[in-house]
Amino acid sequence: NTPDIANPVRTRAIMNTYGIAVKKSLGQNFLSDTNILANIVQAADITDEDDVIEVGPGIGALTEQLARHAHRVLAFEIDRNLIPVLADTLLPYDNIEVVNADILKVNIEDEIASRLPGAKAVKVVANLPYYITTPILMGLVSAPVDFAAIVVMMQKEVAERLSAQPGTKAYGALTLAVQYKMQAKIAFTVARTAFIPQPNVDSAIVTLTPREPLAELPFTEAALFRLIRGCFEHRRKSLWNNLQSIFGKAPATKEALAASLADLGIDQGIRAERLSLEEFIALTNVLHGHEV
Ligand code: SAM
Repeated sequence: NTPDIANPVRTRAIMNTYGIAVKKSLGQNFLSDTNILANIVQAADITDEDDVIEVGPGIGALTEQLARHAHRVLAFEIDRNLIPVLADTLLPYDNIEVVNADILKVNIEDEIASRLPGAKAVKVVANLPYYITTPILMGLVSAPVDFAAIVVMMQKEVAERLSAQPGTKAYGALTLAVQYKMQAKIAFTVARTAFIPQPNVDSAIVTLTPREPLAELPFTEAALFRLIRGCFEHRRKSLWNNLQSIFGKAPATKEALAASLADLGIDQGIRAERLSLEEFIALTNVLHGHEV
């Protein structure tokens, strides 16, 4: 009876057998705690109706647990040295496909259509490579795919940004970009001792689930995100100063900006971190109405 891949003794044996030298540049920290993997599978509520996309299977620790609960698992691994390792470690499972690709270059919609035909619910479950957490998340939430859930491990500080409330230090453009599409919650935190090798940071599992529809939508998403990015460009400056940096300081513009804030009852002197997503959307639309 072979122990699970995540069993620390087995993980080390696999690394020795295949001479795996961990690549820090690819964010390779392998999970070697079966309890934590069980908790991830539980947080993602994986059933045999679910098709799961995994980013960065590594040596297959999480992939194996996903395959036991899911209908199919589609995993993207950039490191081609790990592909033959995965072929061996995941040999007992017939519902896994591993693709040697950079997740940032993959068209996820096309991959689902061609590799997961007939998919009902698609979930993303991964222990992310931390150096590209933000671009991976931005790619996933902006893809034209309705994921049933995205359940991912990341650095604890980034997890706090995703789930932040207005008025806190962690709240910012990333929070709003993610919360525009999904509801974000920290499921649990994970100590660095759960990995081989141990990373220099603590980690957390975040669950992103489809959010309730917003009462009001921006007249274009591009305008909303331009406003959000601009308002957080200089976090410590007032909303008023940031708005002038985005839209200019011509007298007519300043008048229209002031009128827009007055329409919404927003104080010019506050910082952007005080505004909720709903207020950013309302401001986008009122600015548009005032031709800013
Ligand atoms: N899933 C494994 C586990 O939990 O033990 C490994 C997780 S490790 C934190 C991150 C994995 O992502 C590594 O296997 C790394 O090679 C892979 N990776 C890094 N950059 C990637 C990219 N751009 N596209 C796909 N995989 C990538």
